[in-house]
Amino acid sequence: MIIETFPVGMLQCNCTILGSEQTREAVVIDPGDDIPEVLARLKRLRLTPKYIIATHGHIDHVGGFKEIKDLTGAPLYLHRSDLFLYEALPMQAQLLGIAAPDPCAIDAHLDEGDELGFGEITLRVHHTPGHTPGSICFHEPGHDDGRLFAGDTLFMGSIGRTDLWGGSFEEIMDSLHRKVVTLPENTIVVPGHGPLTTIGREKRFNPFLRR
Ligand SMILES: [Zn+2]
Ligand SMILES: [Zn+2]
Repeated sequence: MIIETFPVGMLQCNCTILGSEQTREAVVIDPGDDIPEVLARLKRLRLTPKYIIATHGHIDHVGGFKEIKDLTGAPLYLHRSDLFLYEALPMQAQLLGIAAPDPCAIDAHLDEGDELGFGEITLRVHHTPGHTPGSICFHEPGHDDGRLFAGDTLFMGSIGRTDLWGGSFEEIMDSLHRKVVTLPENTIVVPGHGPLTTIGREKRFNPFLRR
């Protein structure tokens, strides 16, 4: 498995390229910005994007959707419950004082239990509402050290804010306790922003998850 995670854009969203050594296919997770850099990395890694997916509809995670689709032809995936945010990208851009991307349709909707497969890799979709209504996490079970691409649901030492459009503190806590902390402790967490962590570390040190 080939994996590169790197921050993009003004808000330093963690974008990830996850690729198969067998088929040279890849998914790009959360291409919020800096698409030329994303494409340069794909080229250097000799990977072809098969899916473009986002953990939720905030502009720092989906701002590059149109540009990367135009340049690669790969389909765009999002959870249906965040379409209202995706359609409000001009409003989100205005709030941040940045240029809004042109509109571009989503190709398919992801939901709980969906699987995205390519080569030796399978990504499982978990619907984890709270930060936004359509927030999803992508779980790559791996062998004994799977990965969770958590978006803005979980950070090292913190959780996503719930005071934005459609956010809910009760929902994010329910999502975390039912679908996130139930994963194996050595699961590596790739959050939407900031450093990587593990489920075990967050269960011990994250003030929102300690019981
Ligand atoms: Zn967000
Ligand atoms: Zn974010």
